[in-house]
Amino acid sequence: MKISNDSFEKYGTSGRVTCPKCGKEASLQLMRANNGLGMMGISIANYNHNYFALCENCGALYSLDEDSIKKSQKRVGMYKVREIDPEGLTYLQTLPLK
Ligand SMILES: [Zn+2]
Repeated sequence: MKISNDSFEKYGTSGRVTCPKCGKEASLQLMRANNGLGMMGISIANYNHNYFALCENCGALYSLDEDSIKKSQKRVGMYKVREIDPEGLTYLQTLPLK
């Protein structure tokens, strides 16, 4: 299996959503996959989505349907955020956060 650390690019931050895993309201890191598999040295099995969301609170990694990402971005303070539909989140695995 090919493992590449540069196959993901940051795709901004979501608005505040309730993480289905930890139940806390959090902003999810959005990532878009390009080629290859894996992030942070961890391969992701059953990879068939292009968009991923990571809860910074508990490390839960979700795949995210492209349709669930609102196209428009809005600016909150110094950050641009994208609204997402939490129903588009599919739990994959929990990553160890530093
Ligand atoms: Zn969480």
